[in-house]
Amino acid sequence: MNEVRTRFAPSPTGYLHLGGLRTALYTYLFARRNGGKFVLRIEDTDQEREVPGAVDLIYQSMHLAGLSYDEGPDVGGPYGPYIQSQRKEIYREYAWKLVELGAAYPCFCTKERLDEARKAAETRGETFKYDKHCLAIPLSEAKERIAAGEPYVIRQNVPTSGKCGFDDALFGHIEVDCATLDDNVLLKADGMPTYNFANVVDDHLMHITHVMRGTEYLSSAPKYDLLYDAFGWEKPVYVHLPVVMKDQTRKLSKRYGDPSFEDLLRQGYLRDAIINFIALLGWSPRNDREFFTLSELEEVFDLEGLNKSPAIFDVNKLTWMNGEYVRKLPFETYYELAMPWFEQAGVSGLDTRRLAELMQGRTEVFSQIPQMVRFLAEMPAFDNELYTHKKMKTDAEVAKKALTLVRPVLLGVTDWTEEALHSAVMAAIAESGMKNGQVLWPLRIAISGQANTPGGAFEIAYLLGKEETLRRLDASLAKL
Ligand code: GLU
Repeated sequence: MNEVRTRFAPSPTGYLHLGGLRTALYTYLFARRNGGKFVLRIEDTDQEREVPGAVDLIYQSMHLAGLSYDEGPDVGGPYGPYIQSQRKEIYREYAWKLVELGAAYPCFCTKERLDEARKAAETRGETFKYDKHCLAIPLSEAKERIAAGEPYVIRQNVPTSGKCGFDDALFGHIEVDCATLDDNVLLKADGMPTYNFANVVDDHLMHITHVMRGTEYLSSAPKYDLLYDAFGWEKPVYVHLPVVMKDQTRKLSKRYGDPSFEDLLRQGYLRDAIINFIALLGWSPRNDREFFTLSELEEVFDLEGLNKSPAIFDVNKLTWMNGEYVRKLPFETYYELAMPWFEQAGVSGLDTRRLAELMQGRTEVFSQIPQMVRFLAEMPAFDNELYTHKKMKTDAEVAKKALTLVRPVLLGVTDWTEEALHSAVMAAIAESGMKNGQVLWPLRIAISGQANTPGGAFEIAYLLGKEETLRRLDASLAKL
């Protein structure tokens, strides 16, 4: 058995979107699971779509995702270069081999001729297909015209009858009428190959055994097999991965503002949670297990667990899963990750370690932190209605009584700790005959301005400090 070799072959068109990350992840996992090699190849032959800096972004994303590759542009390897724009000569050589084999031919058709033919096809209500016009030109004549400097492309010579097909590990054997296939351009006038050609040449020369890519390439695969057959090359195993959908009708897409991998990291999702979640978008371990680290996935990932139907990216599920990961973080890690968000909320002057203790169990995504803790930096405006709580048997009137009761008690606390606050206030409540909730609920509202807070009245009073607590208490009391 040959060593398993897979590749992730992104085009440098911007941030790594989540569908791309999933392809990268599966490709990586399959190589690792089988003790094979994982290759990164940059497919930059369509230079009009290229975004400056995008190649570096790819390296960075792969690094952030923890998907280390054995061969690639920045790490080298025996089958380089791994950037397609640096392999122009190789494609030219193979394109001409195909011409000699009769599986391709030079084409001199002008843009005008092609545009006209395209229009004519449209008026007939047909999809345009090149009419093999230049196939009739004898090769010797074509070579003379090329030598004389005439611009040309090289087109694939697709059979006009019979069946063209290929095998996919997930979808089985797929066949189309060869007559439906077009004589696509393999080598463009500027000498650059098209994706359709370069991917076949590279996958062969890089000894790729398993090609995993999106189902959007299913319709092109018969043409790739024709090329493999023409060269007499062994075909890789194809695994076409179903698309990642936003919902039942729409594909996940950066164009609609769906987040990229980097966006999610910036929003405070954890790398490990994203990877875990993405792994399950189209693959399942065939049991109930939901939590996997990357190295656990490397042990269990298999093609049998792949799903044929499109996967739906449910951000709520990712958020839930992220919360599970956040809870399990060592405290120091949580603290370090939460700090920038505390700073953003303007609470970094408080006892942030204590705040972090209160927040860790309540954080699903780090970006939620500022809105949850901002009240500590600035007292929100609130309505006295907030004091009304049926179960606690409180309302504005009870609140006034409660706050009047605790004000002198708090003033008298000299050692401003949660414990000291607790014993002083609880003693006063016991003496007053009021219920705990009738005092503690209003107190918390009066100093936080909101119904939901991380921690209760004592924790919040402690975090705010004596002066600020009393200032807020007085302001709230004045409103009653
Ligand atoms: N460059 C192609 C893309 O970014 C890769 C397709 C493939 O993996 O062959 O979609």
